[in-house]
Amino acid sequence: MLRTATAVAAGALAPGCATARTDTAPVRASGAPPPGGTGPSGPGARPSGTATSGAARRARPPTRAPGLPVQIQHGPRRGDAVALTFHGQGDPKTAAALLGEAERAGARVTVLAVGSWLDEQPLMARRILDGGHELGNHTQRHLDLCALPAPEAYAEITGCADRLRKLTGTIGSWFRPSRTQYATALVTRLARKAGYPHVLSYDVDSLDADDPGAPAVQRTVLDRARAGSIVSLHLGHAGTVAALPPILDGLHRRGLRAVTTTELVT
Ligand SMILES: [Zn+2]
Repeated sequence: MLRTATAVAAGALAPGCATARTDTAPVRASGAPPPGGTGPSGPGARPSGTATSGAARRARPPTRAPGLPVQIQHGPRRGDAVALTFHGQGDPKTAAALLGEAERAGARVTVLAVGSWLDEQPLMARRILDGGHELGNHTQRHLDLCALPAPEAYAEITGCADRLRKLTGTIGSWFRPSRTQYATALVTRLARKAGYPHVLSYDVDSLDADDPGAPAVQRTVLDRARAGSIVSLHLGHAGTVAALPPILDGLHRRGLRAVTTTELVT
């Protein structure tokens, strides 16, 4: 699939986190609101459902997990927790629907936000935190980070960190590089320089960014996840929203809880 420009322009497609494609320019570099009129004050950006209102939750600073490697792929295998981690980009209404499903089931998730998405949807940062979820950095433009020269890669990391600091007061709890499951040694070093003690990888890829349908996403996650797993998923995909309740149900039946990544590893 070489032409995704139309879908990207419509805000319908967020490229997969681990798929280095050459056809995906930064989403809406103009900074214009997406077609359909859901700008920063649109309905998708409002807290809803069981999210707390009034007193805003504090954003956490970067998490340090003593005893774990710099690049974290999973948490303790002997516990009863898993972390569902989301590429943070896409239609805000779909993103808010996903958060609402998680909250209805008492689950907490981790959203690694793309900086350009936060520029378009600044209220989503607060919406995520107010739901009790965790927020992190997924680079400014979701480029193939490990292929960039050091200065450009560093600018991608700090660009998103600056957005997060401006919106929430911290640079976010976690950093995950874009378009790769694993950071290179260089990217890991740059992330540490930017203030993140760890790089957040994952051990389960839901493959949801390819939109295989909710049953396939559900099956992939439940087949592969076990205690300690960090699962890669994507906001902005309707199939992922539909898959979340049965995923949470399946985890619950196995005695597993979906918690924030910080809760998983500390
Ligand atoms: Zn991603």
